[in-house]
Order: sequence, then C-alpha cells, then structure tokens
Amino acid sequence: MPILVMKFGGTSVADPGRIHAAAEKVRAEVARGHDVIVIVSAMAGRTNELVGWVNETSPLYDAREYDAVVSSGENVTAGLMALTLQEMDVPARSWQGWQVPIHTTSAHGAARIEGIDRAAIDAKFAEGFRVAVIAGFQGLSPEGRITTLGRGGSDTTAVAFAAAFDAIRCDIYTDVDGIYTTDPRISAKARKLTRISFEEMLELASLGAKVLQTRSVELAMRYKVRLRVLSSFEDTAENSGTLVCDEDEIMESKVVSGVAHSRDEAKLTLVTVEDRPGIAAAIFGPLAEAGVNVDMIVQNISEQAEGRDPREVTDMTFSCPTDQVSRARKALEDAQARGDIRFDRLEVDTEVSKVSVVGIGMRSHAGVAARMFAALAADGVNIKVIATSEIKISVLIDRRYMELAVQALHDAFGLDKID
Ligand code: ADP
Ligand code: ASP
Ligand code: MG
Repeated sequence: MPILVMKFGGTSVADPGRIHAAAEKVRAEVARGHDVIVIVSAMAGRTNELVGWVNETSPLYDAREYDAVVSSGENVTAGLMALTLQEMDVPARSWQGWQVPIHTTSAHGAARIEGIDRAAIDAKFAEGFRVAVIAGFQGLSPEGRITTLGRGGSDTTAVAFAAAFDAIRCDIYTDVDGIYTTDPRISAKARKLTRISFEEMLELASLGAKVLQTRSVELAMRYKVRLRVLSSFEDTAENSGTLVCDEDEIMESKVVSGVAHSRDEAKLTLVTVEDRPGIAAAIFGPLAEAGVNVDMIVQNISEQAEGRDPREVTDMTFSCPTDQVSRARKALEDAQARGDIRFDRLEVDTEVSKVSVVGIGMRSHAGVAARMFAALAADGVNIKVIATSEIKISVLIDRRYMELAVQALHDAFGLDKID
C-alpha cells in the first residue's frame, strides 16, 4: 500500500481534543487506502518548559542529560495518538526513536539522522496495522544514548521517514495554512505561496522562518521528497497548503520571494584583539568546540588601539543565538586565560535581531541590496552587520525595529501583490 507521512506540530497536538482532531485526519487517509506514518511533536509549550527546567537546574548543562529530558515531550503525544487511533478502530502502534531505532550522530542537542531501521515498522504493517506513530525529534546515538535533532526537529524526523519508506508525500500539519511571504504573525500583508523552491525554503528556514526546520528541507531536496505544509485546523483538500518543490515546477518569479527574521540574536565584539595569522582560528575554534553556532562575522580596524600600533590589533564581531552567549563568553575567557588569544574587552549586545530577504531572482538581478538598505533607511533603521549570499541578504538590527523592518521590506519588494 502507498505510504503517506503526516507530521503534526505542537499546537496540532496541544491537548487530547487536538490529538483527536489530528487522528481524524489520519483516519481519513487510511480510509483512502494509505498506510500512514504519523510523526508527532510534543504538546505546545512542553519542550520550552523542559528546556527551562534544564537551564534552571544546570546553566552549562551536560548535553546528554539535556536530551534525556527534552526528548520526553514527544513520548507522551506518540502514545496518546496511538491510543486515540485505537479508540477509532484504526490499528496503530507507537514507537519512540530508540525503539525504531532511528540512528543519529552523537551531537547531542543537534544530532543528525544517519539511518532508520525499517524492519519493526514493516513487520507491523505486514501484520495489518495501518498506522505507525513515531515520536519526532529523537534518535539513538552510536553510544546508545537518546539524542535530539535540534529545535523544530520533528519536521526532519518526518522527511527522513518519507525518504526511508519512499512515501508518496510528506504532509507537515501546523498552525498556519501554508508557507507565506513572511511570518503571517508579523505582517498582516503576508501572502500564502502555492509553491516555493527547495533552495528558497532552505534559506528562509536557516534565516529563522521556523515553519520548517532547515535540515528537513535539506533532506527533502536531497531525496526528492514531495513536501507539503498545511493547516491541521482546517479541512484539507487535494491542493491545500504550500508545496516545496524544484525550481522548474514554479511559475511565479519574483526577485525576492520572502522575508525572514530571527528574533533572538546577540552581537559579540572582541575589542582590540592581537592581530596575527591564525587569530581567527584561535577565536572560532574554541567557540565551535563549545557548541556555539556563530553566524555573521566581521573583522574591523580597531578604533580603540590606545598606545598600540593599529596594525597590530583588530576588532572581531560575530553573532550567535542569545541563549549561547554564556557559552561563548566562557569559551573566549578560557582561551584568553590559556594565553591562546589576547583581547581588551568583550562587548555583548543581546538586543539584536536578524532580518533577511531571500529570492532566487537575485542571481540575475542587480540592485536588491541597494533597495533593501534604502527601505530600512527610510524607516530610520540602523544596520549593524550585513551578510550576503547568492540568494539572500541579511542584516543585524536593533530588536525593537524588527517588526517594522520586516514590514518595510515586505512592502519594498511588493510581496503583498500577486504578479
Ligand atoms: P509546529 O509546532 O507545527 O512545528 P512552528 O511554530 O514550528 O509549528 O512553525 C509554524 C510557525 O512558523 C507559524 O505559526 C508562523 O508563525 C511561523 N512562520 C515563520 N515564518 C513563516 C512563513 N514564512 N510562513 C508561514 N509560517 C511562518
Ligand atoms: N518539540 C520539539 C521542539 O519544540 C520538536 C518539534 O516540535 O519539532 O523543538
Ligand atoms: Mg516546528
């Protein structure tokens, strides 16, 4: 029988009533002749609560124990979903990640799926079970410990199962009815897209559009999974939601397709660092080892080189998520204590956000950056750091201007209008 993957996010399984509504959708697909693999997230807010408890208990926690705690939310919803389906007379069984097993790397908190053992699930389908419910977000490390796949990781579980079982499609049910030109919670003018290319979605996701986890889009692109995002709160038709697909399946061609934001960014500057060959490696090596995800990097001439030759010192600025600032600070101070780097001061600004415009049309159109900067200037938004790639431009700005900037850019690139 053709296999369909259906993933339900946190708000779609927020309580037993919502789980029931999701299970109705699963039952409808079973009635249409599919065997279904259901991937569930933890109930809305649960993972945040678990992360909060870990931080309260141990601020620089052991990542293995973090995973032991934060993976637990999904166990509850997987069992409840299987029970709900059984109550509807749909033969269903649940699996936690280690039971499948879903093999991952041992990068706790950000593990990558390396393989899925199909045997147990194939055997259950062969016995006549119609639905396999899988706890999303979790896996098993080579050392035999529970891992998690990073926030939003249930999307990746879903796409990985769709690839492993050669599913006809991977449907991601969430609290919005598709992928929009920008987060519909930030701009009322956001417009739903019927299709978006893998490349653009990959950029939007990695720049903060949390509707899909970045790694899930990467996997879908690599394994040619048909990936659809749709609402669990509405009746769904054959063509509901947004399809993420190859570039050549898309008619619409705008220079910019979407605006993304990442709210909780921090900007760190090492002031008057001794400038010598290897200094960047001496700074960013320890940060990487400490698990800090460094994003933008700018090296500047030091303005405060009092009493020193300005050619011998530099200022190094980088950004990372705000919740990694204490790890970053410790890694840099330890490197200074070891004598590996020398700097006068570490300046930390935790009140910044990143706003980005994305579009494959940028490859062939000049002037996108100029238009973006002019739109921000018109609203008095100061740019702190800029980064570009072939199909995106990102800026770091004061957080209090974030929503204004998203709206200004959405207007400046005409995203509210259909061509
Ligand atoms: P789930 O719990 O179902 O995984 P998420 O909260 O992870 O849901 O993702 C859905 C949310 O993503 C939406 O509620 C919306 O606020 C946000 N979002 C951000 N950017 C976009 C976008 N471009 N299109 C749609 N939703 C977006
Ligand atoms: N529950 C996890 C999280 O909140 C995984 C997910 O929902 O995709 O990040
Ligand atoms: Mg999500």
